[in-house]
Amino acid sequence: MARDRIAEPWSALLEEGRADGRLVREAREGPGRAKLVQPPPELHPEVLAALARIGIERLYSHQAEALHAAWEGPTIITTGTASGKSMCFNLPTLDVLCRDGRARALYLYPAKALAQDQARALAGFGLTKRVRPAIYDGDTPREARAQIRRSANVVLTNPDMLHVGILPNHAAWADLFANLAVVVVDEAHVYRGVFGSHMANVLRRLRRIASAYGTRPRFLLTSATIANPLELAERLTGLQDVSLVARDGSPAPAKRIAVWNPPLSDEQLGTRRSALGEAAELMARLVREGARTICFIKSRKAVELLSRLIADDLRESDPQLAALVAPYRAGYTPQQRRELEGRLVRGELRAVITTDALELGIDIGRLDAAVVVTFPGTVASLRQMWGRAGRSSLHRTGRGLAVYVAGEDALDQFFCRHPEDFLERPVEAAILDHESAPIFRQHLLCAAHEGPLSGVDREFLGPRWEAQAELLLSAGELRKRPLQAERPGQQRIDDPSLESLGARSYVPRRPGSYPAAEVSLRSASPDSFAIVDVSSGELLGSTEATRAHSTVHRGAIYMHLGTAYEVRELDLQRRRALVAPFAGDWYTRPKRETDTAIVRLLDRRQTLGVTLSFGEVSVTETVLAYQRTRTADQAPLELVALDLPPTSFDTQALWFELDDSEDRAGGIADAIPLEALLGALHATEHAQIAVLPLIAMCDRWDIGGLSTNFHPQTGAATIFIYDGHPGGIGIARTAFLRFEELCRDASRLIAECRCADGCPSCVQSPKCGNLNEPLSKAGACLLLEQMLSASSQPAVGAPL
Ligand SMILES: [Zn+2]
Ligand SMILES: [Zn+2]
Repeated sequence: MARDRIAEPWSALLEEGRADGRLVREAREGPGRAKLVQPPPELHPEVLAALARIGIERLYSHQAEALHAAWEGPTIITTGTASGKSMCFNLPTLDVLCRDGRARALYLYPAKALAQDQARALAGFGLTKRVRPAIYDGDTPREARAQIRRSANVVLTNPDMLHVGILPNHAAWADLFANLAVVVVDEAHVYRGVFGSHMANVLRRLRRIASAYGTRPRFLLTSATIANPLELAERLTGLQDVSLVARDGSPAPAKRIAVWNPPLSDEQLGTRRSALGEAAELMARLVREGARTICFIKSRKAVELLSRLIADDLRESDPQLAALVAPYRAGYTPQQRRELEGRLVRGELRAVITTDALELGIDIGRLDAAVVVTFPGTVASLRQMWGRAGRSSLHRTGRGLAVYVAGEDALDQFFCRHPEDFLERPVEAAILDHESAPIFRQHLLCAAHEGPLSGVDREFLGPRWEAQAELLLSAGELRKRPLQAERPGQQRIDDPSLESLGARSYVPRRPGSYPAAEVSLRSASPDSFAIVDVSSGELLGSTEATRAHSTVHRGAIYMHLGTAYEVRELDLQRRRALVAPFAGDWYTRPKRETDTAIVRLLDRRQTLGVTLSFGEVSVTETVLAYQRTRTADQAPLELVALDLPPTSFDTQALWFELDDSEDRAGGIADAIPLEALLGALHATEHAQIAVLPLIAMCDRWDIGGLSTNFHPQTGAATIFIYDGHPGGIGIARTAFLRFEELCRDASRLIAECRCADGCPSCVQSPKCGNLNEPLSKAGACLLLEQMLSASSQPAVGAPL
């Protein structure tokens, strides 16, 4: 044991953390021995020979397992970071390509850098006569495109290119679709929420077009560890009977996990030393001790700031060390990335600091230590970043240190009190809803442009597509016409399922239009505002129309990929926001007035002493003003009035009303003094929204809430929690189903916080439209306790 400690460059650091209480939790993981097996002899001889040539005599057990699963049917692989996951889909793909000279494969990557890494990995097998990989994305030169369409047999692309470039032009890709044997969806956990709901539709369109050309490709997916990998795979692809490969056969390094909480600076207010300052100190220590470290933090600005703080710290003691720290920036060319990664692996660099978004594109295997500063939003991504810790060599398993430095947000502090929640179980499920109505209709229209919609499309688009097609019909987007067999390779006329359509099909009313170009896979509704940088004329991106008033109103500080901009003008007529780079030291928060109207009740149950409902609501929002807040100390600077019209959107929500205490003794609301009721409801809503990402992988910003001590439709005190995107994407539905857990977690969040009257670590919300007024921590505590103790009461009220 003693020798063990001396060997680790971080022993002294951890010792100090233990002594002063900043190290709130430690755990050890691994080492785990590699489970190695012979490559299956059924593999094509050329693939076996290629493996031998590159020095791979045996496979990790999960790679062989994945190969067998992939031969049988659709498969998802969820083993750890750096466990050789790509081999799991490369081997079956290479096998198919060696057996069938015409077969082709499509690899889908959420980030360009990943596609580049994979293209190199495929080339590394040296099967140049059999395997011709090519990247097809926005950067592919025009003159190379036709050649790729004709001859590349592994096309590496991204969902956006598939959606807007490949599917609408399927005729130009006829040979690919007619021979499509394998579709690989790497990093599938990225496809959740709005992006996931779009991706599920894009993959259904892909299956539909492939089927029109007579193929049914095998889908192979990989994902980080999540709670529901099979459900994710099935929802994304629309396929059933997907196999799961989850038992990791790669060697796990002996790893120490350290949960690190900056010390309290004011116990009453609940404020702590900043996570940035704490992280800078930790990183400088690790660099001095010689550990090669990667550090993850959310924004680009924080990356720059943290890199500077670490270098400053090092410069005081040893100027040469300061040069061994570098930020890893977006926008590096592949060559620059290779060079930086190489220097890091060789030890010429000791530390890189990067945003979690860039994690997807880094190719460094494992290092000595991985430090994650503030909660990255999901335990799955935290785990993925931690997975970078612990180098292994051929001869011995490595050692590693994985650190989490907590910020002051509610979830950060929740995890510091309940580290087991992210040490012992993958808690979140990746949620998406391919039938989210606005998203579904956009893709239905795209699909109609790709080929007439008819009865056989039920297999790909689900049983409810025709109802949505009827809506597009009445909106003048589609028209009906007698069915003709016009898609290649299909005798559709004889299909009995066409009877319900009266052998008619839906076709676009305006065949010359190009609907895919209007659909962004990142936003729920086609209705969007453009965001333009006036200093360069560059289009930065777009925002959903329903969010424009609250995020890009005049004077708002808008963050884009970690860079701050100030909005100069919001042009409601031309639907665009003009922004300019911003260097000030404040941020802004909108003050809003929100109303919800219940449109349709879909489900209802009695639980925890309240009536819990799920359904469709219409949310109306007016942005009244915004507050400027100083970044350094969060002091409010100024409240500026705005004059904006109300906006509204339909979405899904859960709501619960507190039973009227008049007719039931001991009603829940009874326990709370009337003057504290609104504050109690509001604080409860905030706490529930804060912990919802523990159940459904989502961002706090994907969820909205409203609490009122009297809602005209329920006639009682009511809390609403709704999906923040038009149509909803399944978050509120998940919260409805797992409401008891939500209340338990919210209750723990509040009850355990040591602040006096509520703080950012419990009931205050950074996105509150009422600027956190009124809030009653004590009232919320009482309310949730009452609800949880009422849990086992029998159901009352009329069933639906
Ligand atoms: Zn608190
Ligand atoms: Zn609020």
